[in-house]
Amino acid sequence: MKTSTLPRTYRVAHGRRFRLADYDPADTDGLASKKDAVEALEKTVERLAELQERLYAQNRWSVLIILQAMDAAGKDSAIKHVMSGLNPQGCAVHSFKAPNSEELDHDFLWRGTCRLPRRGQIGIFNRSYYEETLVVRVHPELLGVQKLPTTLVTDEIWKQRFEDIRAFERHLARSGTVVLKFFLHVSRAEQRRRFLERLEQPEKHWKFSAADLAERARWDDYMAAYEETIRHTATPDAPWHVVPADHKWFTRLVIAETIAARLKELDPTFPTMPAAERKKLKAAQASLEQEKE
Ligand code: ATP
Ligand code: MG
Repeated sequence: MKTSTLPRTYRVAHGRRFRLADYDPADTDGLASKKDAVEALEKTVERLAELQERLYAQNRWSVLIILQAMDAAGKDSAIKHVMSGLNPQGCAVHSFKAPNSEELDHDFLWRGTCRLPRRGQIGIFNRSYYEETLVVRVHPELLGVQKLPTTLVTDEIWKQRFEDIRAFERHLARSGTVVLKFFLHVSRAEQRRRFLERLEQPEKHWKFSAADLAERARWDDYMAAYEETIRHTATPDAPWHVVPADHKWFTRLVIAETIAARLKELDPTFPTMPAAERKKLKAAQASLEQEKE
């Protein structure tokens, strides 16, 4: 059995023709059991917490984590487990649903822009502006409610959106936002199994929506949209990771390890005080020590 706790990278290589078929949703990189992964995840989450503290204190970089997936791929549980050890003051999760009327009065990147993490923070987008080349591509009629001037809605629109997203993410990178994107790659068969589980267990009913079946029926169209999107937006500035999602325990480990590895590369450091400030701290310490209890 493999003993390494570090799963291989699931980062999509930039510049090569990306094919979803090259990625196996059931892969566990040789990790044999949930038990090993759970122990490894605990350690990784501890490391993440320590790195987050330094990121927060340094207050220079920000980290944007984007999670995209089909329904029931495990986005919510990944967020819960991976973020469990983090300081809530230093991170924020935003879930993007169908846009409301105020959001439709703006460009498609606007609502995401408003929720970007500030310096020192980790921001998690549970779905994101990527829906604009995924659900909107599978249901192009949604473009009709976006109030775009009709002359701008042409066959070029998807290519233009890829370009705009790449430029936007490059801008983020140049401003100190590290973007990490994850596609939780679940198989159609595993989604069926999870839907059935939701239907069989009353406490999971709330997680199921009849609309989920309609989207499932468009599985191949979604996979084609994901493949195109990832192919055109996997860049060195903002890499995509295609994470096997048939085993939730493995998905969580890969996501946590990927974020921890990137934070380690950033190597955020605690700010050091100028000598004059340190002197003031010494004086404060001496004054407190002299006080009577
Ligand atoms: P769960 O796992 O709980 O189902 P979810 O992320 O699927 O979580 P839902 O409330 O079921 O949450 O779904 C949000 C829906 O909003 C998704 O179907 C998604 O495709 C849709 N959505 C998100 N962004 C857009 C967008 N820009 N345009 C149209 N639909 C969007
Ligand atoms: Mg849903």
